[in-house]
Amino acid sequence: MQDAAFAAAGLAHRYELLDVPADGLPTLLRLLRTGGWLGGNVTVPHKTAVVPLLDELRGDAADLGAVNTIQVEGDRLIGYNTDTFGFEDSLAAQPALRRGAGQAVVLGAGGAARAVVWTLLRHGWAVCLLARRPEQAVALAAALAHAAGITTGVLDAPTLAACLPGAQLLVNTTPVGMWPPPAADPLPAAVALSPDLFVYDLIYRPYETRLLARAAAAGCRTSNGLAMLVAQGAAAYTIWTGLDAPRRLMRTAAEQALLALGDAA
Ligand code: NAP
Repeated sequence: MQDAAFAAAGLAHRYELLDVPADGLPTLLRLLRTGGWLGGNVTVPHKTAVVPLLDELRGDAADLGAVNTIQVEGDRLIGYNTDTFGFEDSLAAQPALRRGAGQAVVLGAGGAARAVVWTLLRHGWAVCLLARRPEQAVALAAALAHAAGITTGVLDAPTLAACLPGAQLLVNTTPVGMWPPPAADPLPAAVALSPDLFVYDLIYRPYETRLLARAAAAGCRTSNGLAMLVAQGAAAYTIWTGLDAPRRLMRTAAEQALLALGDAA
């Protein structure tokens, strides 16, 4: 989607995928400082490890302590977090959630959960954060300045039975259900979904996860993670180029890339 946006603007930039081990991060960042790079994206597991290697954090990255976008400014590296915008923007596009903040249940407490929980709290949601290792949820809650709005617990059927009634939003931030198969579902089988619930799965490959299929069968409205992916990418494009991002084009390019993989549907 970035290459499609660069081409549409007549820019000669190219988006490259680099597989970087944890101990290779300092070397890669030195390379970025040598010129010829607009910046980059940082993904799991480097989003927090990269922070001390940067010269400055801007926007949500400073509050979150996690970076998914780097801008090269001269020989300085500036860190941003556009996952927060991506999630926020994709939620705002859901008519079912326009009534405003309520109660959300978030599954998983890793890097993506950090941006999701931060965004929900900032918009006044009360968050029930559940992780298979509950200490991870407690640590994430403690790391966020708005932690007053969070309750934490273990991701199991009894806790979900206590948290879900009254919730308007369920967000899966675990990779459970992500390609490759076998498909799995982060919700224990015993958990019933109310049709009033909006179920948001951050996964976009497959296009419909087992969780989303189960939620749709229960009458819930649903979203996969593609809108968030495109929105965070569009924000990164603007940081790098200073241009408005061609979001529709980027979405189409992302959908075509997923379809070309043959397992998106
Ligand atoms: P992460 O930092 O590794 O966190 C994953 C979380 O899920 C951790 O809490 C982990 O717990 C938990 N988890 C893993 N396997 C589990 C299982 N079998 N049962 C219960 N919990 C489990 O990964 P991440 O960066 O947050 O990414 C998570 C997902 O979000 C991925 O599928 C990623 O593709 C997606 N994502 C999408 C977007 C988007 O734009 N749509 C953006 C970011 C991420 P442990 O620590 O105990 O393993």
